[in-house]
Amino acid sequence: MIVLNKIYLSINRMTNTNKLNKMNNSKNANPLSLILFKVTAFFMLLLQCTFGYSQNDDNINSRDILYLTSGGKLNPHQAIMDIRHYTIALEVDMVQHAINGSTEVSLNLSKKTDTILLDLIHLYTVTKVKVNNKPASFYQHDDKIFITNATDFEVGNQKVLVEYNGIPPVAIKPPWDGGFTWAKDKNANDWMSINIQGEGGKMYYPCKDHPSDEPNEGADLKITIPSNLMVAGPGLLMGVTTKKNKATYHWKTNYTISNYCILFNIGKYKVIKDEYTTILGTKVPIEYYVLEEDTMHAKKVIETRKRDSKILEKYFGEYPWAKEKIGIAEVPNSGMEHQTMITFDNKFSYKTINGQEYSANLLHEYAHEWWANKVTNKDWAHMWIQEGIGTYAEALAYYDLGGEEAYQAKMAAFKKSIKYKKPMVGGEELSEDETYAGNDIYTKGAFFMHSLRYVIGDQIFFPTLKKLATDPQYTYDNFVTSKEVEELFTNAVGYSLKPFFDFYLRTTSTLDFNVKEIGYQLYQITPVNYVMDLPLDIMVNHTIEKKTLTKEGLKITSQHPPIIDPKGFYLKKVFVQ
Ligand SMILES: [Zn+2]
Repeated sequence: MIVLNKIYLSINRMTNTNKLNKMNNSKNANPLSLILFKVTAFFMLLLQCTFGYSQNDDNINSRDILYLTSGGKLNPHQAIMDIRHYTIALEVDMVQHAINGSTEVSLNLSKKTDTILLDLIHLYTVTKVKVNNKPASFYQHDDKIFITNATDFEVGNQKVLVEYNGIPPVAIKPPWDGGFTWAKDKNANDWMSINIQGEGGKMYYPCKDHPSDEPNEGADLKITIPSNLMVAGPGLLMGVTTKKNKATYHWKTNYTISNYCILFNIGKYKVIKDEYTTILGTKVPIEYYVLEEDTMHAKKVIETRKRDSKILEKYFGEYPWAKEKIGIAEVPNSGMEHQTMITFDNKFSYKTINGQEYSANLLHEYAHEWWANKVTNKDWAHMWIQEGIGTYAEALAYYDLGGEEAYQAKMAAFKKSIKYKKPMVGGEELSEDETYAGNDIYTKGAFFMHSLRYVIGDQIFFPTLKKLATDPQYTYDNFVTSKEVEELFTNAVGYSLKPFFDFYLRTTSTLDFNVKEIGYQLYQITPVNYVMDLPLDIMVNHTIEKKTLTKEGLKITSQHPPIIDPKGFYLKKVFVQ
């Protein structure tokens, strides 16, 4: 997900944590936030009315799903469950904005249990549950389905079929606050996108909603829609069957996939096809699901995708889903990192870097194919790995397109947006909301990579980063935490980087320096926050010298006060005395 609108974020987080009433009573409430909240609340009310819900408070509250988040502490019932596969078979009613069908969850239990627990939000009615083809008892409570068995479910594989229907939540601000977005293209054709990163797969299918468990054998989606439209989904299109005026699209991915990437988009699309040859020589189909009215933009989007593929493969290794496809789908919201079907909005805006056109949204979401979809953090607490390195990929693209100067300018721009309010890693087993609130995981995460590159040097940094993106122990079925990233870089450089990692990830401090004139043309440089011995560029008499700064500091002879870290590799403050 690309970095989000800051004002919106502050409102969203307050609503999510049910602090609105407190805020209304607070003398310190920000008037702008209050106005914006009221506008948001009015818009939500309007949505309820639009879709035919009575306006009594209970019903409005029951459709208010802004409290939802994803991840956090794993429920013990789900800790004994390993998800193997999902099959989602749904019919989408484009008029009533409803879904109806089933999801089959294949899972493996490591212990006997009287309850199989799946997540599904309360807006759906579950009509039937079968476990291994036999009807099972169940009840819905608290956005969960409790499937019970008085004589216990046995250890081993279980096939759980859930039949359900309902009206999915409408996304208030997609893709940051998720749900379904029902739109029309310019020719009044139906157009629909799904975004569920923040809230998880439970927004429309029963699942184990936790980042630490992806279906090892992938997922199948069988989506039925009016036959004049098309479904863009993950993986391979296995077939389209038509019956009267309805069509069922069967999409299948054999790869592991985050539950928030198991989704589909619907539109009156035209599929523009091309092919990309990866860095290892694999030929991968490119499929762009673009609205018929926007086909004139397709060539540039696909050419940009091919060029960005070369850049990202150079740093992070082969495109991760080479056996399936490079997919892009046009949607009525800002793009998202949906595996093998990255979405892109319909604005087609580019900026020019050194004469070459570039879209941050296209590049950033595409970088997530490596950093999120292939290298996945085990717990949202370590989300900087996905968003920070995904954002750093933007700076590397600037480097490849515009050289060192463009890269440094991008890093300086990232630095300006860092807020230093919360550490990037604020604990363990955090929810998606808890990690995204504060937002520094994007630009501070990127700046951390920039600083680390300087500290350990390009010869170690780049191969180690590529190892993180390519070694089986960190990719696909395996998940990563900050500790594993730290240990990988520590082993590569041969000394402990733990103090440096902890400083950047677990504090909001900057690396500050005192520069004091202690004699004639003599200066003492001392670290204020000593972390560990670190390299430091010092400009003395117009020449940059790379020194090592220890706890004791350095004495520098110079005609003028020396300039610390003139290129800006560190987050720092310098005090000249
Ligand atoms: Zn992102």
